[in-house]
Amino acid sequence: MRIDLHAHSTASDGTDTPAELMAHAAAAGLDVVALTDHDTTAGWDEALAARPAGLTLVPGVEFSCLRVEPDGRRISLHLLAYLLDRNDTQLQAEWQRLRETRRTRGREMVERLVADGYPISWAQVSTLAGAGSVGRPHLARALVESGVVPDVDTAFRDLLSSRQRYYVRKADTDVFAALALIRAAGGLPVFAHPLAHRRGPVVSDETIAAMAAAGLVGLEVEHPDHEPDDRAHAARLARGLGLIGTGSSDYHGTNKTTPLGARQTDPDAYERLLALPSAIRPTGP
Ligand SMILES: [Zn+2]
Ligand SMILES: [Zn+2]
Repeated sequence: MRIDLHAHSTASDGTDTPAELMAHAAAAGLDVVALTDHDTTAGWDEALAARPAGLTLVPGVEFSCLRVEPDGRRISLHLLAYLLDRNDTQLQAEWQRLRETRRTRGREMVERLVADGYPISWAQVSTLAGAGSVGRPHLARALVESGVVPDVDTAFRDLLSSRQRYYVRKADTDVFAALALIRAAGGLPVFAHPLAHRRGPVVSDETIAAMAAAGLVGLEVEHPDHEPDDRAHAARLARGLGLIGTGSSDYHGTNKTTPLGARQTDPDAYERLLALPSAIRPTGP
């Protein structure tokens, strides 16, 4: 069984439409793929309609969250939420708020880059984002298109990471509020790339333990942004806290370089996840 539990479509900041993502997942030899766009379930219907017969689709979402650590550090973090009730009114209201703040933030980042003479524009970034929510990958593509950087990874490293002056903070949901929202909507929350240092600062082990006590069910252990040490640490934490260790590519189409299935979830871990009660079930054979 080849299982990839984290992938993005054009409903957020991927480059495959949900239907293309389904076809690519089957072509990559996956048995199971999760569609986890940022703060939206808008891609679910198209993906479900396009799902090839042999592929199982796990509908999900990647929730943008914030943790203020006891020492005052503000840390961005992502929760994957699988198999939740997408019509939950409290979740819908929170996503609507997040989508609006993402646009405002994207505009502000573009303005800062333009002010320093980088030849991109908001119109260009909006076009790249299409109907999806605006994210840093769209800014990265605009910078590549305009010849500022050779590729999106360089754009992230040199201009768009949270350590850079062009970075604008997001108004994301407190992670404990998000855990409560996801559980109330019957979803299964898994902490995405918990130790991805190259994306910015990460939360403490104590915070991860507190999240486990607050309803977190898993930790993404295998992720392209985890170094070998991070994977070992995440696996140890998961074991110690009784959390399910998952793996995924965090595929974004051509917005990032990692192909579907580059990292995978162990079938036993997937079984443990499915054994938990959830609002909906995966669709597939
Ligand atoms: Zn993420
Ligand atoms: Zn992601």
